[in-house]
Amino acid sequence: MTPLRIPDVAPTAGWDIHCHTVFSDGTETPETLAGLAVREGLHGVGITDHDTWAGWPAVLHACHAVGMPALLGTEVTADDGGVSVHMLAYLYDPSDPAVSGMFRRTREARLGRARRMTERLAKDFPITWDAVLAEVRQGESTTVGRPHIADALVAAGVYPTRSDAFSGALASSSPYYIPTPSPTAHEVVDAVKEAGGVSVIAHAGDRGRNRHLLSDAQIEALADDGLDGLEVWHRGNDPDQRRRLLDIASRRGLLVTGGSDWHGSGKPNRVGENLTNDVTVGEIMSRGVSPDRIEGALE
Ligand code: AMP
Ligand code: FE
Ligand code: FE
Ligand code: ZN
Repeated sequence: MTPLRIPDVAPTAGWDIHCHTVFSDGTETPETLAGLAVREGLHGVGITDHDTWAGWPAVLHACHAVGMPALLGTEVTADDGGVSVHMLAYLYDPSDPAVSGMFRRTREARLGRARRMTERLAKDFPITWDAVLAEVRQGESTTVGRPHIADALVAAGVYPTRSDAFSGALASSSPYYIPTPSPTAHEVVDAVKEAGGVSVIAHAGDRGRNRHLLSDAQIEALADDGLDGLEVWHRGNDPDQRRRLLDIASRRGLLVTGGSDWHGSGKPNRVGENLTNDVTVGEIMSRGVSPDRIEGALE
């Protein structure tokens, strides 16, 4: 793999390659995302809904309509030795059966888990499974998660915002919480590689989401497996964690990426608040599956 110069300051121009839409737990459409990317003067934008590529055709269409380059991706739910890990997978072949099977299993597991969490919550709060499903915007194409439960709690007047629900009954430390059964991060790296894609660990230094972070040794073991990069420029990674991740990236020749983790009105994160530079996006594109092959597979 080509060793790239590791940028040690966050890019001020480039691509936002970590964004969620109504195809998972974002509140806005791919059309709105494309429009915001234009307004923010981005060089390009990436869609990374959880455990699905269902939003890819819509984002390609929306970006094409406004002349905004798009990067196709997915944020994959995973686990490494009991640590919840999110992996960003870019430009893999969506017709690959191993990847599709992995996503299908996770989406089914997410649905069962959301339903069981809702049943636990229903003992103490005015919430039903139908009320949660009413918050799902793309029917069966949407990957369901805690944010949809949060929205139902907000609609019932239990909390003023999604974030308040996440600080309360939906926190991972709460008695109502149930984890999502997930593939291991190593399985994700292998499957994405098999499908011709590029894998990046999302927000690996975010202490707000994980009591225990991945250790250097755990990240390096994933690098041994063929991991491509680390998302350093993300609001959840504090300065110490950014330095740690940059050190690992330079030691192991990993790509350094950034993204907003935009979820529309569901989270304060703004499109373009963190970026990946053009050279790194070019490297992701040269390692991943070609747009023509992906568009052929989506037809
Ligand atoms: P889950 O994957 O079902 O466990 O739910 C966690 C997801 O909720 C993560 O992808 C978060 O980014 C997302 N999320 C959306 N809005 C919020 C919020 N306001 N606070 C915390 N997490 C949020
Ligand atoms: Fe999310
Ligand atoms: Fe994430
Ligand atoms: Zn995300």
